[in-house]
Amino acid sequence: MANVERKTVDKSPLKGIPIVWIIGGPGSGKGTQCELIHIKFGFRHLSTGDLLRHEVLSGSTRGTQLYKLMSTGECVPYEIVDDILAEAMVAKVAKHSTDGTLQGFVLDGFPLDLEQAQAFEKDIGSPKAIIFIEANDTVLEERLLARGNFDDNKTSIEKRLHNFYTKTVPVVEHYGDLVKRINAERPKEEVFADVQKVMESLSDPVSQ
Ligand code: ADP
Ligand code: MG
Repeated sequence: MANVERKTVDKSPLKGIPIVWIIGGPGSGKGTQCELIHIKFGFRHLSTGDLLRHEVLSGSTRGTQLYKLMSTGECVPYEIVDDILAEAMVAKVAKHSTDGTLQGFVLDGFPLDLEQAQAFEKDIGSPKAIIFIEANDTVLEERLLARGNFDDNKTSIEKRLHNFYTKTVPVVEHYGDLVKRINAERPKEEVFADVQKVMESLSDPVSQ
């Protein structure tokens, strides 16, 4: 295994805090829906990619080790991703322990594949729901080309779509009823109306 420093994180502060995973193809609107969830439900929005890039930029020992992997296109080991997620979650719980503004976590684009899903369940906990926002490839491509980030070009989009279908969709198949499928080929407010129903059902004991 790649040599990246491990950290021991006391995860007890995370006990009982609901976690939702949100998955969907590139451009399906995960980030958009996460922000709406944050505003309406007080769930904190975490993106693994952002956390990893932040760790690299921090210049820590672990960040330097991560940079070596990430810049050569190697995968970051699952347990390191979990360490970084757990640290960020514990820090957010500590920060908001007195203001009552943290109601849960929504993990944007996580997990990437089934192995990552299972490592997270072992290391941190199980999600209360998995929201899967679905849109066809043409819609996804149009949105990404309109967004126009530096990596939103045709070749990169095709590669990300391929990864999504081969690696992430098996997660959906594995988790059965925990997965809530939502049609994302609609304006974001309409998509959110369905996302909102899922979020509301989390605190409803009858639907669990
Ligand atoms: P993801 O995080 O899944 O890659 P984003 O939330 O960044 O997706 O959305 C990708 C692009 O599509 C953004 O430009 C966003 O404004 C736009 N977008 C998001 N949701 C919708 C929607 N329901 N209808 C139309 N455009 C959307
Ligand atoms: Mg995004």
